[in-house]
Parts: sequence; structure tokens; C-alpha cells
Amino acid sequence: MNDVLRDRVRGCVVGAAVGDALGMPLEFGSKIPTTALVREMTGGPLPAGAFTDDTEMALALSDSLLAHRPLDPADLADRFVAWLQSKPRDVGIHTGSVLYQIAAGEPWDRVAESVLRRRPDSAGNGSMMRCWPIAVAHWNDLDLLVSESRLQSRVTHPHPDCIEGCVFVNSAIYYLLRGLLPAEAIARAMTHADLSPEMQKVIRSAPRKPRDALENSGWVRHAVESVVWGMRTWDSFEEIVVQVANLGNDADTSAAIVGAMAGAVYGLSAIPDRWLAELHGEWPLRSGTIWTSEDFVALADRLAETGENEPAGR
Ligand SMILES: [Mg+2]
Repeated sequence: MNDVLRDRVRGCVVGAAVGDALGMPLEFGSKIPTTALVREMTGGPLPAGAFTDDTEMALALSDSLLAHRPLDPADLADRFVAWLQSKPRDVGIHTGSVLYQIAAGEPWDRVAESVLRRRPDSAGNGSMMRCWPIAVAHWNDLDLLVSESRLQSRVTHPHPDCIEGCVFVNSAIYYLLRGLLPAEAIARAMTHADLSPEMQKVIRSAPRKPRDALENSGWVRHAVESVVWGMRTWDSFEEIVVQVANLGNDADTSAAIVGAMAGAVYGLSAIPDRWLAELHGEWPLRSGTIWTSEDFVALADRLAETGENEPAGR
């Protein structure tokens, strides 16, 4: 792996956590006026620079990927349940209801099926917010990247828009890591995901959407809309993440997703030092171990290393 690619891989991982932390105090809030955009890590429900459940679930997925190749969905489900039982401050409503059933002893695949049957319209952004570790681990194998992006979503979010949304985001990261411009990476990513006509329309129209019309809710279609808008409208890591986080509502999640994508283009070297200095959080929860930006850099290297021999190593 050359230095440029390494910087981009690190940027993807650190960028996701930084976006989550920047968006944390803005979550559930209204859109911040463009004259008063929040550009600094600030405190909210957590201290300034702290990451949230989005990053915690991505770290659980990362741990699972580092322990098992290929991805073992039962192991992943167990790790999500262990995380839930460690009492995180935030758990998505849908994610929580799925994980409580798995914790009660139901096999993950049966829970996923029954959730989809009972709530066919439940299509939150909860699997997309944590999907980036798959893109980093499989930076060298697009087939595995696509299949495992789907599998990790199925564990909690079996709705087709969630599953294919994860394929879309991770395929875009795949091309961004290779130096494609956002417009081209997004266009190519659309060919790898089996997107519903509605999702395709959202992605195609997002770049022209006025800021006022962006809802940035927890719905997966709104998350996709915000991140595509951010990637196509702004042209630096800082501006993209600031603009998406300041949409409010599900600010931390959209900023985490777009942070992974923007980090994959602009690299770790483009992430402001003042944000890196503030980033922190406990992982695993209740372990007393505090992660800082250096730990995310080390994680990026470890995840990417496992993909070094793909696809030949398969
Ligand atoms: Mg969160």
C-alpha cells in the first residue's frame, strides 16, 4: 500500500469518528443557520470531541472483522449484544429492539426476518452509520466488499434500502480511496448496489437539493441524500463534514457517514488537527480504555492490512 492510499484509509476511519463527534451536540437539533455554523468540537450530551453509538457499533464490527474472516454474522450479532448490555448512552430504537430479541436467545437471522415482516417500512440509517469498516477491510476486493456490506446490514437492518445503501456507501469509499472524484465514485457505486428506483432518485437529485429542503432524519434515504449533497457540493474534508453536521436532526450519523467518505478522498492529512486533538471515547464501554485519534489510525492500519492479500488470498 503506498503512502497516498494509506493516508486515505486512515482518513476514512478517523474521518468517520470525527464526523460523529462533531455532530454529537447537534443531534436532534434544528438546522444551524449558515451564518452560525458550528466548526469546533463542542460539548452536548457528551463532552466536546466524544464519539457516540455510531462509532461504537463500527468498532464492534471492526473487532468482529479482525477476529473472523470471512465476516461471521453470528459473531457480529454477539458483539452488538455485548455492546448493548454494556449500557451505551444511545441506542437506535430499531437497533435496540432487534438486539434485545437476539439477546433473549433468538438467532439473528430469524429476528431480522421477523422484523422485516412486522415492520416492512422500518428503514433507518443504523447499519449505514457503522458500515465503513467493511470498506476498509476489503479496500482491495470489491466483491467481498459488496457481499459483506450486505451481510453486516442484515444483522440489524434487513430492509433493502438499508442493505443496498450500505453497498452504495462502501462502494463509493472503494473508488474514492482509488482517487476517483466524488461525482465519478458515486456514479460507479450506484452500479454495484441494487438500489430501489426511489433510492436512485434520491442520489441523483441530492446534488441540486437546496439546503433548506434537506431533512437529515434517521431515515436511510435522508441520510443518503445528505451525504451525497455534502460530497457533491463542498470540496474539502472540513467543509463537507461541517456542512452535513450542521443540518441538525440526525447530525452525528450523517456526519459520520460523510466523514468516512470525505476522509477517503482527502485523507488523514486533511483532517484539522484541532479536531484530532479533541476526539476521544471509551472502547469497549466500561473497560476504562479511552480511544484517541491515534487509536483510530492504528485500527485503520490493522483493518487495511487484513485486505492486503485480497483478492489473491481468497
Ligand atoms: Mg449517535
